[in-house]
Amino acid sequence: MLIDLRSDTVTKPSKEMLEAMFNAEVGDDVFGEDPTINALELKAANLFGMESALYCPSGTQTNQIGIKLHTRPGDEVICESTSHVYRFEGGGISFNSGSSIRLINGEYGKIMASQIEAEINPDDIHTPRTSLVSLENTTNKGGGSCYDFKEIEAIAQVCKSNNLKLHLDGARLFNALVETNETPKDYGNVFDSISICLSKGLGAPVGSLLLGSKDFIKEGKRYRKLMGGAMRQAGFLAAAGIYALDNNLDRLKEDHKKAKQLETVLEKLDYVKMVFPVSTNICIFELKHGLTSKDFVKRISEKGIKVIAFGPQLIRLVTHLDFTDEMLDQTINTLKDIS
Ligand SMILES: *Cc1c(COP(=O)(O)O)cnc(C)c1O
Repeated sequence: MLIDLRSDTVTKPSKEMLEAMFNAEVGDDVFGEDPTINALELKAANLFGMESALYCPSGTQTNQIGIKLHTRPGDEVICESTSHVYRFEGGGISFNSGSSIRLINGEYGKIMASQIEAEINPDDIHTPRTSLVSLENTTNKGGGSCYDFKEIEAIAQVCKSNNLKLHLDGARLFNALVETNETPKDYGNVFDSISICLSKGLGAPVGSLLLGSKDFIKEGKRYRKLMGGAMRQAGFLAAAGIYALDNNLDRLKEDHKKAKQLETVLEKLDYVKMVFPVSTNICIFELKHGLTSKDFVKRISEKGIKVIAFGPQLIRLVTHLDFTDEMLDQTINTLKDIS
């Protein structure tokens, strides 16, 4: 039994999802004629109470299109120093948007309204024009942490009073939503744009959605084309997204429960120091006694478990819908055996 905990992107479509894909009605989406993509975009827009949505191949692309549309070259984007848009999108903000980036060191990948306010440049010809704040929820590098929605509302207020746009990298937003009391519409209310991934915890093989106003998405379609992301009969893939939104949201709680169970075991292990509290489906821990993450990744992979190094001593495990109870037991036993 091979156990893959490197990411929640490793899931494969279930039989039922494949069935939905197989039966999809498709057309050429560049002509706007793919009924399944149109249905997915409409469904997502309605879910978030936003005007429009755009289906893209990846979350990198939805984030990059969002940031591009909210900025002009020479502007400045405020984000947390470990955020995906800055660290893991190949330098996309500078490449695609020509914007500079103002980093804030947050807690578990989250930043506060007061910190943002202090980093907004004055209206002065010497300074880059601050035009966008980009948040991440849940945070990836921050260990799957969720924002308190009150803080998000305070941030939205700061953005409004300073004429800044607010973007959300919500690759794992649904993981936050099942742990908190907010609805997608609450998020749709406060953000100018939201990116969500269908190919992470939701289990679709491909796809992300960018949400925003009608005009914003119309312009987004232009950049999706420019970036090479306009697809043709991709309704087969969009059908997986519709299936995921209909069936795989509530079950994210199961992934969180398993991550918590892993945390409980890890906390008691001699060679582990928990540095991030587990709040959703991500478990990040530090290795002690000079054990390097490179050695650990190798030793655990020899026992059939794949994990990734998140730093010289840091390991990340991500639970997901293909991680069964049986796999959880085996992982727990293996973690106990390694020392
Ligand atoms: C996975 C992820 C993305 C998007 O990644 P793609 O692989 O391009 O779909 C964006 N933000 C965060 C926080 C992520 O974890």
